[in-house]
Amino acid sequence: MSTDGVFKDQGGFLTTTVDSFLRWAQANSVWPLTFGLACCAIEMMNLASGPRYDIARFGSEAFRASPRQADLMFVSGRVSNKMAPVIKQVYSQMLEPKWVVAFGACASTGGIFDNYAIMQGVDNMLPVDIYVPGCPPTPEAVIYAVQKLRDQIRKDDPRGGVIIRG
Ligand code: SF4
Repeated sequence: MSTDGVFKDQGGFLTTTVDSFLRWAQANSVWPLTFGLACCAIEMMNLASGPRYDIARFGSEAFRASPRQADLMFVSGRVSNKMAPVIKQVYSQMLEPKWVVAFGACASTGGIFDNYAIMQGVDNMLPVDIYVPGCPPTPEAVIYAVQKLRDQIRKDDPRGGVIIRG
């Protein structure tokens, strides 16, 4: 009996199944970090705790205060150069796999703050998966961004840098 092929096939089947199960679980339980930087954070709170938008429908209602328990960082607001090392440290404390959404014009490009004190886009420092422009972006746009992120996780896509219109 040619066991090589059989075991190889069984191993491949098992690995594929476990991988897709893990991706399915991750995509359905993306837990964001509670981390507001500026006015965009008001929309994030609206998204997180209000019944109107109900992000719990997509498995993301559990905003965590500890980076160890979160796998999504919403960078919600302008990133000052003074705050940048703190954000980087918090990001480094999140476990893999982890994702970043640039929440709003300021986090995506610096927005209206074209000056020496503000980083011109958080992607100068962190790998951003989804950009959501808008000042602030609408909660609907952010929900759409979370959906796109879940699609990426399910398909195991490399970082897409997708831009969602606000
Ligand atoms: Fe504030 Fe607009 Fe910048 Fe968001 S994008 S932090 S709402 S100025």
